[in-house]
Amino acid sequence: MRLTVLGCAGSFPGPESPCSAYLVEADGFRLLIDFGSGSLSSLQRYAGLNAVDAIVLSHLHCDHMMDAALYVVVRRYAPDGPYPPLPVYAPAGAPERLAGAYSADEGPLDDVYTFYSLQSGSFPIGPFTVTVDRVNHPIETYGVRLEHNGRVLAYSGDTAVCDAVLRLAQGADLFLCEASYLDGVDNPPGLHLTGREAGEVATKAGVRRLLLTHLVTAWGSEAETLEAAVGAFQGPVEIARPGARFDV
Ligand SMILES: [Zn+2]
Repeated sequence: MRLTVLGCAGSFPGPESPCSAYLVEADGFRLLIDFGSGSLSSLQRYAGLNAVDAIVLSHLHCDHMMDAALYVVVRRYAPDGPYPPLPVYAPAGAPERLAGAYSADEGPLDDVYTFYSLQSGSFPIGPFTVTVDRVNHPIETYGVRLEHNGRVLAYSGDTAVCDAVLRLAQGADLFLCEASYLDGVDNPPGLHLTGREAGEVATKAGVRRLLLTHLVTAWGSEAETLEAAVGAFQGPVEIARPGARFDV
């Protein structure tokens, strides 16, 4: 499978990146994981306006879902006619949340999206075996494990340290892990990981390669985050960038 980072800024768009969005392709199937603010721009730049066959939303914070509301226009009002409904796997409440974000009074989005409520477990999407589990964040949030042809890509979602993210990442070939916070700071509990914690999860889970994402550039330091992760994980570590591609 191939991962293309469309957006990787944590919490709000940064000067160099939209918010979280990751396109994963295999056998010609295109799965978009998260669709945060600004990432619709990157989708066009690095893939194509309609280069999506299904969407997984890890949770319903704006920086992970807001462009799924804007994407309604793309699908509903395409010049060559409306597109068929796109499957969206998301926490319960996504239909109302996205409809409300799109418009106060234009009704449901059933013509654009077919919604499936996420629950912890495994299920197929296209050629992928997808496993999701609840992670440690203030609202219902899922980490994601994708398997295809014996390879594993794991995504932390937004989470503080928890057993679920460790299980999801177990033995992953590529672990896309959030690292929102700086170490050595009195961070609020139950929200996010630091670079060191991301590295520790990667080590405990025995992953091959660690890709740090969801850094809050304006408040943090890429160099410090990377250094902290490298200090806790001996394998290759890098920081996600829009347009970066990884064959898994
Ligand atoms: Zn969040």
